[in-house]
Amino acid sequence: MNEQLRIKAHCMGQSIAWAFANPEIEPDARSSACIEALTKRLARGEPLAYLLEKAEFHEVSLKVNASVLVPRPETELLVELARDEVVHGGRVLELGTGSGAIALALAGARPDVDITATDVCEKALQCARENARRLGQALTFLCADWFAGIEGGFDAILSNPPYVASDDACLTRPPLTFEPRRALDGGIGGLEALRRIIENALPRLTSDGMLALEHGFDQGAEVREMLEKGGYVRIATLHDLAGHERVSWGRRA
Ligand code: GLN
Repeated sequence: MNEQLRIKAHCMGQSIAWAFANPEIEPDARSSACIEALTKRLARGEPLAYLLEKAEFHEVSLKVNASVLVPRPETELLVELARDEVVHGGRVLELGTGSGAIALALAGARPDVDITATDVCEKALQCARENARRLGQALTFLCADWFAGIEGGFDAILSNPPYVASDDACLTRPPLTFEPRRALDGGIGGLEALRRIIENALPRLTSDGMLALEHGFDQGAEVREMLEKGGYVRIATLHDLAGHERVSWGRRA
């Protein structure tokens, strides 16, 4: 849907359907100033989700701000995988939750599952907690640096960690320059966070538990190799709608 129309609807406090149906109704002075300001920010490449302070993800509507990554459609693969694979009443850990997108979408799809979501950034956790409150979901949120202080016993560990290589030029261009670098920059080759998670998740899984990770379109082979070396079995990769390898997963047994 047209970005300008969304901005207009947002600034006029109306729905997008209303803005679409009433193109002749002029915004008042305050709304016009808002439209002008947001249009300028859009032109500089800032993600629309930050301008509107919200994003749709899977079946949930989330508040977002510059402390969290804008949820991407391809990340819904992780939600769908966990929705379909986690045993009834299972325990799930999501690492680096940001806005809470993955954990909250999963909570909506699988109310029987017990979810813990972590982030190293307090501001991100504030955003995730606020989203949980608005959606009426009681998850456990923890401030943690990957697995620090996290005990085991999870049926699934999920993460969309930072996986862009530090020297990838896209980090220096909009829209990524507007997003938290820490949520994007995966170090040399983009694999540092992925490796750290793979190396530490296994003992925290139940015997049949799974680790599922989002990764870059060209990182599938390396992630599968790390999973194999790390002792995971039944390793597989899912493709996103663009046909790219996007989520790889393996089980403890
Ligand atoms: N998919 C994001 C991008 O390339 C990266 C997300 C991440 O590093 N987890 O824009």
